Amino acid sequence: MKEATVLGLGASLAVAISPTYVNAEGTKQTKHYAMLVDLTRCLGCQACTASCKAENNVPFGVFRTWVERHEKGTFPDVSLQFVPRLCNHCDNPPCVQVCPVQATYKREDGLVLVKDDRCIGCGACIKACPYGARYFNPIKRVADKCTFCQPRVDQGLEPACVTTCVGRARVFGDINDPSSEISKRIGRKPVQVLKPALGTEPMVFYIGLDVVQVR
Ligand code: SF4
Ligand code: SF4
Ligand code: SF4
Repeated sequence: MKEATVLGLGASLAVAISPTYVNAEGTKQTKHYAMLVDLTRCLGCQACTASCKAENNVPFGVFRTWVERHEKGTFPDVSLQFVPRLCNHCDNPPCVQVCPVQATYKREDGLVLVKDDRCIGCGACIKACPYGARYFNPIKRVADKCTFCQPRVDQGLEPACVTTCVGRARVFGDINDPSSEISKRIGRKPVQVLKPALGTEPMVFYIGLDVVQVR
């Protein structure tokens, strides 16, 4: 994977599928899932927000993904930038480190997930996430967040927000596979992550992220 350009910004579910596979060269390879969001293609339409809610039964008043709206420039040369947000599935996730009962964990293929049957709802992970990506699910009474649509991914499907993205701004895939679309697109343009200085190593990458506007 191409190294990200570092810019300063301020359930118990199905059994995991094997994160390894044999690539075209016949070599065993480990998957590492990530998402790329090309902000130059995001229209701010919120189709992702709506499809995520429907796919994952996200309760009223909380969100697994949302689209922020930021103003760029000074009058009269102003424009809007839309920044979709979701769990970054960090490679060094503070939410995993603080969980007292190991309910929150990182899968071998990169997904950061919550075991609903272990979570005691203490909220430590919600406080520890520097991205505000977690919420307390008032129906399940556990911590909740974006799962990269794990049930879909385990069936070989793309996340709901990717399939419904009107501008094809969201790309999901295996960054360990150089032939994947996400690897190719990350290789073509500089990419940024949110709050790189924290060392969380986010696995959601952006193209065109404005350092000044997004905190
Ligand atoms: Fe955990 Fe927050 Fe990183 Fe998601 S964005 S893995 S909830 S620290
Ligand atoms: Fe762990 Fe659940 Fe507490 Fe989060 S709310 S730290 S997942 S027990
Ligand atoms: Fe929601 Fe799935 Fe997209 Fe995560 S990957 S924001 S859970 S639709």
